[in-house]
Amino acid sequence: MIEAILFDLDGTLLDVDMDDFLDRYMLKLAACFSADEKSFTKNLWTSTSAMINNKDPQITNEEAFMEHFLTWINHPRNEVMQRIHDFYEKVFPTLQATAGPFPHTEAAVAAARKLQCPLVLATNPIFPMVAIRHRMKWAGLQEKDFALITAYENMHFAKPNPDYYLEIAQILGVNPARCLMVGNDPVFDIRAAAEAGLITYFVDESLPGLNKNRGRLADFPQFLNSLT
Ligand SMILES: [Mg+2]
Repeated sequence: MIEAILFDLDGTLLDVDMDDFLDRYMLKLAACFSADEKSFTKNLWTSTSAMINNKDPQITNEEAFMEHFLTWINHPRNEVMQRIHDFYEKVFPTLQATAGPFPHTEAAVAAARKLQCPLVLATNPIFPMVAIRHRMKWAGLQEKDFALITAYENMHFAKPNPDYYLEIAQILGVNPARCLMVGNDPVFDIRAAAEAGLITYFVDESLPGLNKNRGRLADFPQFLNSLT
């Protein structure tokens, strides 16, 4: 019996060219801080690493990120928060470009809903909730379908740390061994979730069909049927 189903977003439910997206994102975010793009990007990745590598369960990902970010960004904290807020409200929505749902996104979520267990939008919680909400909208997802959306404000770990998956199970009050993680990244989604004891479904569009616990997104409803 499955107690919760977790979905990765980018490359799993949202069709987005991540390299192109991140390039445009960095360019706009650097501009928002009137910073040189090259050094800003380099520093931002270092702050992101500091957040991902943070192992203190008392510190949210946002706190870990901000602690590092504020060491090099040349603006006071209040102004940083205001600029970030404005960026995600006004600029981030303009970055959608060609991002959208995959042909089988809606059917995959509908099949999961049929099991009537909590669904989790288990995107790597290294972005603010507002950014994840925008990306969910691009994927045609309804927030009300998800019991939990992981973001940097509400999580204390990030992929590929298996503790990220254990924290989700703990928040929902479910057994990790009865949770299913669906994702397209063999390390961040599949190996990390398996290390936490979850059941996994590896979304691999290069496969001709369902093969044990891997297959295309189109094969996911069939996979769910095989579990129940
Ligand atoms: Mg992904």
